[in-house]
Amino acid sequence: MLPPAPVDPVKVPSSVGAERKAPVLMYHEIGDGQNELWVSEKNFEAQLAFLEERGYHSVTLPQLQAALEGRAELPSHPIVLTFDDGYSSHYSTAYPLLRKHGFSGVFFVYTSGVGRPNSVTWDQLREMQAAGMEIESHTVHHVDLAVASAHPDRLWRELADSRSTLQAELGAPVEYLCYPAGRYNAKVLEAARRVGYLAAFTTKPGWTTSAQDPLQWRRVRVNRSDTLTGFAAKVGAPITGAVAEKAAGGGRS
Ligand SMILES: [Zn+2]
Repeated sequence: MLPPAPVDPVKVPSSVGAERKAPVLMYHEIGDGQNELWVSEKNFEAQLAFLEERGYHSVTLPQLQAALEGRAELPSHPIVLTFDDGYSSHYSTAYPLLRKHGFSGVFFVYTSGVGRPNSVTWDQLREMQAAGMEIESHTVHHVDLAVASAHPDRLWRELADSRSTLQAELGAPVEYLCYPAGRYNAKVLEAARRVGYLAAFTTKPGWTTSAQDPLQWRRVRVNRSDTLTGFAAKVGAPITGAVAEKAAGGGRS
């Protein structure tokens, strides 16, 4: 007798039922500063070079959302790089390095801060947008929206006025939001939805996935103290063995 034929496993397209996800990185200042919100120019460029070498592709927020909702496919190794607060280093340092390495970025600005010292200007934002960068809302005054939600009209202005100002200054739709300091509550979520935001970022840690409420998307924080090995693990491209020692500057010469 012949042994029983092996049973073919049921073939299911890999995307059916699977959670769709991508890492969305969160940066603040690029440069030399004393706390974890700063990532040095040297480390930032090493991170971009690593992403480029490993075949990562920037996706826009509309592309990300379409993919998470099953309406589109993501490229291989998708990534989103976000920058909060509209610092001048975003224009002077992050933007040219993103272009050099073939990536785009998403810049969350609070409209009352644009043009102030150490901040981007409207002309700079227009130039960045024309080069493929996305400029999105971080409210008007960078307020704690959970606190502001005690005053519905104030909450509404922070969300709606920042959006209308950005749209008027930049001439493009603004459909994405980032909660200042990651602060929000149920009233904030409802107001954001009614103002017309399609999705919003928190500061809760983790990759952005199809299982999350789009108004409570998570992000991966990049810190000043991250080594390249640590960064690689965060984006799902671990550096192992001898390569890790080289990247970390370890090993004896
Ligand atoms: Zn902020």
